[in-house]
Amino acid sequence: LHNVIQDLKGNIRVFCRIRPPINSSEMNLLQCSISFVDNNGLEIRKTRESISQITGKPQEFKGDFTFDRVFPPESTQEEVFEDLAQLVQSALDGYNVCVFAYGQTGSGKTHTMQGGEGPDQRGMIPRTIDLIFETIKELNSSGWTYTVQASFLEIYNENIRDLLNINNTQKLEIYNNEGKGSTVTNLTIQPIESAVELKQYMSLAHRNRATAATNFNEHSSRSHAVTKIYIEGTLEDQNTVLRGSINLVDLAGSESAKITINDERLTETKNINKSLATLGDVISALFSKSKHIPYRNSKLTYLLQSCLGGNSKTLMVVNIAPFEECFNESINSLRFAAKVKEV
Ligand code: ADP
Ligand code: MG
Repeated sequence: LHNVIQDLKGNIRVFCRIRPPINSSEMNLLQCSISFVDNNGLEIRKTRESISQITGKPQEFKGDFTFDRVFPPESTQEEVFEDLAQLVQSALDGYNVCVFAYGQTGSGKTHTMQGGEGPDQRGMIPRTIDLIFETIKELNSSGWTYTVQASFLEIYNENIRDLLNINNTQKLEIYNNEGKGSTVTNLTIQPIESAVELKQYMSLAHRNRATAATNFNEHSSRSHAVTKIYIEGTLEDQNTVLRGSINLVDLAGSESAKITINDERLTETKNINKSLATLGDVISALFSKSKHIPYRNSKLTYLLQSCLGGNSKTLMVVNIAPFEECFNESINSLRFAAKVKEV
C-alpha cells in the first residue's frame, strides 16, 4: 500500500513560478519580498504590515510554502520545461498527462503555456510539440509507428467551443464512457503529420479564439483553453498499441474568486469559481485516495476525468506576479496549490 500511495503522490506535481517585472512601469511598482529556499520553498512577504480597514487588526503579510519545484523570476522557459519533458515521454508510453497553468490574470499563465516570440521564449505547448515529434522520429527506428491528433477547445461560462471550427453550431457535449475515456461530440480532432503542422493548428486555434471575442484579454482571462494531443503508438508486430494523451490547460484567471453584489457577470464569475474550486477538490480527492471524486461538478474536470487520477500524471504550475498589489491574490493561489498537495 505504501508503494501505491507513493506512486500516486508521484503522479501529481505542483510547481510555482514567479514572473519578473517586464517593463519600467512595473519596475516602479512596489514588489513583494520573496525568498527562495533550495529549489522548492519560498517565503513571500509584504514589505510592511498593514491594518485591515474592516477589522482594525493587522492583515496577513507573509506566508511560507513548499512545492515540488519553485522557479524564481529569472528562470528560463527551457528550465521550466525540463521536468515536463519526462511527462511528454510518459504520454508516448501510453499515459494520460494533464498540465495546468493556474494564477491570477497577468501572472504569466499564457507566457508559461504558449510563450513569446523567438526560440528561447517558446512556452510549454510548442516545446511539447517539438519534443513529441523528435521522440517519435527516434522511436521509429526501433519499430514503433505513431499517429498524432490534436484538438483545441475552450470552456467559457460552462460552454465548450471548438477552436478549430468556431462556426460550429452543433452541440459540443462531453460523454464519459468507462474505460474509453471522455469524448466531446462534434469536436474537431485533427490528424497531424508534423510539428510544423501542429503549430499551424495551434496558431489557428489562437486566432479563432481571439477573433470571436470582443475583448480578447477579458475573454481569455475568463475562459479555460485546453490543447489536447492524442498519441497512439504501434509496434511493428501490431500486437502492442499504446494510447496516451497530453492535455495542456491555460486556466481562467483565479482572481475572479470574489463575487460582489454588483457583479454584472455573476453567473460567469460563479462558473469560474466553481470550476477552479472543483479542480482543486478533484486533485486533492485523488491525492488523498478518496472514494468519491467530484469530477462531475464542472465541465473542465468532467472533460479531463480520464486524464486525472488512475495512471495519469498531473502537473500544476502556479503562476505568481511579484507585486505587492497582487499579494492577496498570490497568497490565495499559493494556498490553492498547497491544498492540492495536502492529504
Ligand atoms: P496571464 O496569462 O496569466 O494573464 P501573461 O502570460 O499574459 O499572464 O503574462 C502577463 C505579461 O507578463 C505578458 O506580457 C507576458 O509576456 C509577461 N510575462 C509573464 N511571465 C513572464 C516571464 N517569465 N518572463 C517574461 N515575461 C513574462
Ligand atoms: Mg492569459
